[in-house]
Amino acid sequence: MPLWFVRGLRRGIVTTHYPARPDPSAVDLPVPPAFRPGQLDRAVADRLCAACPSRALRREGDELVFDAGACTACGRCREAAPQAVTVCGEWELAATARSHLIKRIPLAAETSS
Ligand code: SF4
Repeated sequence: MPLWFVRGLRRGIVTTHYPARPDPSAVDLPVPPAFRPGQLDRAVADRLCAACPSRALRREGDELVFDAGACTACGRCREAAPQAVTVCGEWELAATARSHLIKRIPLAAETSS
């Protein structure tokens, strides 16, 4: 757990400044998924959407739409299709507009598997 967070709780501080430098404990935080477009077809995308409890994933035609603002980094999509999903390694997701958190991933052509 980040020290600045614990320090804030102990002092009764509700809000804190953004950390001046990267916190080493950030490597332990859950991070959103990253998708391998070459491994994503419609069937895999539908399986990912069904596995997502927060509705951060939806398929629109030949695209997988990922809403990083709704993702809780639970990892269920990675469990459902480990060949198509990895971790992004990025935990700083601040954006100036809500729409910047929505990613559109093109699907590959159908595979026979
Ligand atoms: S990590 Fe969880 S919440 Fe995020 S897209 Fe995958 S299944 Fe959905």
